[in-house]
Amino acid sequence: MSRSPKINVRCPHCGHEQSEPRIAKSTYCRACSEYFTIEHALRAAKAAQPGKEVSPQAGTSFGMIREALLSPFGAPCNPPPWGTIAALDLQRRKILWEVPLGTTEDIFPLNIALATGTPNFGGPLATAGGIVFIGAAMDRYLRAFDAASGAELWRGRLPAAGMATPMAYVWRGRQYIVIAAGGHGEAGTDTSDAIVAFSLPAPGERERSWRDRTFEQPGGRAIVKLMLAAAILAALIAGGVVWRRRRARRKPVPTTASGSGGN
Ligand SMILES: [Zn+2]
Repeated sequence: MSRSPKINVRCPHCGHEQSEPRIAKSTYCRACSEYFTIEHALRAAKAAQPGKEVSPQAGTSFGMIREALLSPFGAPCNPPPWGTIAALDLQRRKILWEVPLGTTEDIFPLNIALATGTPNFGGPLATAGGIVFIGAAMDRYLRAFDAASGAELWRGRLPAAGMATPMAYVWRGRQYIVIAAGGHGEAGTDTSDAIVAFSLPAPGERERSWRDRTFEQPGGRAIVKLMLAAAILAALIAGGVVWRRRRARRKPVPTTASGSGGN
C-alpha cells in the first residue's frame, strides 16, 4: 500500500497553513482563495524564519529548511572536530590522513583559538609541488598543507573567512595563490568583498613581518586581548591601592582610647 506524503504549506497572502499532496507545484489557499506556488510559500517561509536556511529543491515540489544544532554558546552540539580536511588514496580506497580544519578564533569570544576544526565551505587546490591550499574554514586564514603528511605548513590571514576555493596562476614567472575572502553570510561569519593573493617573497623583497608571524596567527589575538585585560586589571588594582592610601593619609587618626582590652 502506498501512502502519498503530504506537505504543509503556508499561504503567503494570509498566513493560513494547509496540507498539500507532494505533487502540488501550485495551489489555491483554502482560507483566502488566493493562488500561490510552492516557491511563493518557500519565500514566505524564508521571510518568516530569517535565521534559517530555506531553499527550493529545483524540479520537485519540496523545499528544504536546514539549520545547525547549536549549543547556547553558538558551538555545534556534536563533539569536535567540527570540520576536517582528509586525503584519500583512491587506488587503495583508504584515508591517508585527516586533520581538523580551522580554529574557533573568529567565532569564540576573545578570539580564543581552539583547534576544533569548523564547519567549512570551499574546496582545496593541490599544486604539482605537493602542497594543498585551502580556506573553507570559519576562521580567517588561507592554509597550506603538506599533501603527503597532512602537516599544516603555513597560514595567511584574510580580511574575512575564505569560504571559497583558491586558484593558482603565474604572472611574469611568479606563482600566486588567490582566494575570494568574502566570508559566509548564512554561516554567520563577518563578510567582505576582498580578493587576496599570496606569493613567495621575490629576491630582495621583505620576508613576513614579525607581527604577521606572531599576532596574525591563530591565538595571537587572544594573547593580545588577555595581555590588555591583564594590564587594565593591574592598572585598576594599582589605582585602587593609591586611592586607599591617600584617603587613609587624609583622614585624622582617631585618638580615643579603645577600651581596656580584655577583663
Ligand atoms: Zn490565504
